[in-house]
Amino acid sequence: MSQVEVYTVDLRELEGEGDFPCPKCGALLSPDDIEEENYTVVDVRYNEEGVMEEMVIQCLRCKSEIRLIGFIELMEV
Ligand SMILES: [Zn+2]
Repeated sequence: MSQVEVYTVDLRELEGEGDFPCPKCGALLSPDDIEEENYTVVDVRYNEEGVMEEMVIQCLRCKSEIRLIGFIELMEV
């Protein structure tokens, strides 16, 4: 059994349109990639107000899981 590696990406640290390279293999992952060519959404978490708080995606190339945080903080700016 190989263990899935989990990385955390803080959206506030990203520049530009929100694209970012996979922390492991470097595949470009874009939240605007609605066809999910490079990743698949594993889990989405909402807070009590129903606002998206966290999203977990999996890179299809290297199978790493990437936890995206900072959605709420981004909106408050
Ligand atoms: Zn990857």
